[in-house]
Amino acid sequence: MYRAPRGMQDILPDDQPAWQQLIALCEDIAKRYGYRRIDTPIVEATEVFLHGVGETTDVVEKEMYTFRDKGENALTLRPEFTAAICRAYLEHGMAAWPQPVKLYAIGPLFRYDRPQAGRYRQFHQFNVEAIGDADPSLDAEVIDLAGQLFQEAGLTDLDLVVNSIGDEHCRPAYVAALRDYYRRWQDLLCADCRARLERNPLRLLDCKNPTCLRLGEEAPRSLDYLCTPCAAHFQQLAAYLDRLGRRWRIDHRLVRGLDYYTRTVFEYQPTEGGAQSAVGGGGRYDGLIARLGGKPTPGIGFATGLERVLLNRRKAGREEPAPARPLVFVVAIGEETRVEAVALASRLRARGIPTAGPLLSRSPKAQFRQADASGARLAVVLGPEELAAGEATLQFLREDRPPQRVPLAELAPVLLASA
Ligand code: AMP
Repeated sequence: MYRAPRGMQDILPDDQPAWQQLIALCEDIAKRYGYRRIDTPIVEATEVFLHGVGETTDVVEKEMYTFRDKGENALTLRPEFTAAICRAYLEHGMAAWPQPVKLYAIGPLFRYDRPQAGRYRQFHQFNVEAIGDADPSLDAEVIDLAGQLFQEAGLTDLDLVVNSIGDEHCRPAYVAALRDYYRRWQDLLCADCRARLERNPLRLLDCKNPTCLRLGEEAPRSLDYLCTPCAAHFQQLAAYLDRLGRRWRIDHRLVRGLDYYTRTVFEYQPTEGGAQSAVGGGGRYDGLIARLGGKPTPGIGFATGLERVLLNRRKAGREEPAPARPLVFVVAIGEETRVEAVALASRLRARGIPTAGPLLSRSPKAQFRQADASGARLAVVLGPEELAAGEATLQFLREDRPPQRVPLAELAPVLLASA
């Protein structure tokens, strides 16, 4: 038997109400904060991610679905939104729009990762980007948007952790200090970290190996190396966050996995979960647009995995939204009513009434059973007698009310009134 590819899931009809409700919430929050929707292709030129995300990141080194199309173009299934959206910002001359340009996207992403609970190879993100303004109030706005989303999604036990990893002026000294520090403990590092030490020592800070974790606690801290403008930026952000009333703390080891981050990085982590299970996160990427060939342009963004939000909602015992049900179920009795029953169902649907049936391959009894199981509130019964009189019988399936004969011409308004 064929199965969905490993790490990829079908979202079945019973799962859809929770998904659609979450997507509607994301879109509503985006609208309230002034973000407009953008959709980019699911594939991009591989170079967008190579240059954008960075060649020494896990995402680019190990996790991309890259292929050549029949025209020999190197393409990659998008592993994230930010680089793709910045590509679109440049391609469509958005630098000439009023800044910042505030965009959001929702859709599937692909990473060839090791599947486990909450980690998939195809997953979905809600992602926001504010491009073209470096002010820390925007960092605060994006962090606030994320907090508001999680609050309204019913995720209460989340910690907001924040750090600043500096910019191109102050980060080199920090990275050098980090490399010096870890070189002293080289023999204790896991194999991955030993390999990353020279190329990208920042990444050692978020290694989950217990020894590397302990070494990380004593490692030099980026906040101690910030240049004056970066330190001021962080201080202002702190003041905004305090005033917004969102509980937060500094985590010196938070660096996040992608190369393009500068200054602010943040994550929302389940209180008991640990960093690996971050529900969402983001940061500032003031160097990214230039890496993609544009003029230096600041930006800040946030992304959350919809699967992880739903998982955490369920863990928190939040009620699932009710599945959609038809309002009416058309039951046809007798050969001669068949044609009229089909036309009747079509007319009701055209009037905006969710209508199931008729199930003409089944006996009337079986049709009633199906009507019950469908969750419909009403059965609209069409038998020979009704057909002759130009009427239908309304039967209430979940209430103790007598059946009611209604002329076919009045059926839609009567049903709409009882909805
Ligand atoms: P990132 O783009 O890596 O910063 O991830 C942002 C958010 O996307 C994470 O906090 C998760 O909620 C979600 N996420 C990232 N990778 C995966 C994955 N492989 N499976 C499911 N969700 C993911």
